[in-house]
Amino acid sequence: MRDYKYERERMVETQIRARGVRDERVLQAMLRVPRHLFVPPEFEDMAYADTPLPIGEGQTISQPYMVAVMTELLEIKETDKVLEIGTGSGYQTAILAELASLVVTVERIETLLRKAERRLTELGYTNIIFIVGDGTLGWKKEAPYQGIIVTAGAPEVPPSLFEQLDEGGRMVIPVGAWGYQTLTLVRKENGRMIKEELFGCTFVPLIGKEGWKENGA
Ligand code: SAM
Repeated sequence: MRDYKYERERMVETQIRARGVRDERVLQAMLRVPRHLFVPPEFEDMAYADTPLPIGEGQTISQPYMVAVMTELLEIKETDKVLEIGTGSGYQTAILAELASLVVTVERIETLLRKAERRLTELGYTNIIFIVGDGTLGWKKEAPYQGIIVTAGAPEVPPSLFEQLDEGGRMVIPVGAWGYQTLTLVRKENGRMIKEELFGCTFVPLIGKEGWKENGA
């Protein structure tokens, strides 16, 4: 039987802390969440590797380092409400749920959402609301959010998401072309959008009314 606790410790030390992620709450969350339960059985032995992995439906679970960086950028407080667009496997959702008071997660592919919901419920998370739908429109019912994370690449910042961001809130979102984006930190200050471009990245496309069309247009 593999020693997943040891693999998690190695992942955090060599892939995450060594590359500059310093937020102890984020590092501790990454040490707690059993990533191997979020990947398909055929990829379980690679669960803690320094790479994204396929999760079916043409989608991926993000690389551990990317999950850590995006989470750190949100600067989540225990009292925060966070909106996640792109549930995928639910791994990032679990990390957020370790840190925030409530996570609303939206996924457009129902089979992925239901699988993630089952997994996260079995793991005992009770502070997550699961929504099937077009996340480019956000989820107004629980707005405003102190943090918004988009785990798919957008052509631009969806206006609905910016609207649902709280004053002083932070949004992390890959913005750019269909196959290549720039990880972008968006803040709302006095109602204005302050954008900071961080580094290049590659995410699956954000498909929806305020994102890409299915054919990339
Ligand atoms: N954070 C996930 C994880 O840890 O497994 C990885 C997410 S994967 C890179 C991106 C996800 O965004 C895919 O599951 C995809 O179906 C979803 N997605 C794309 N467009 C969407 C939209 N408009 N609304 C909700 N989800 C969307």
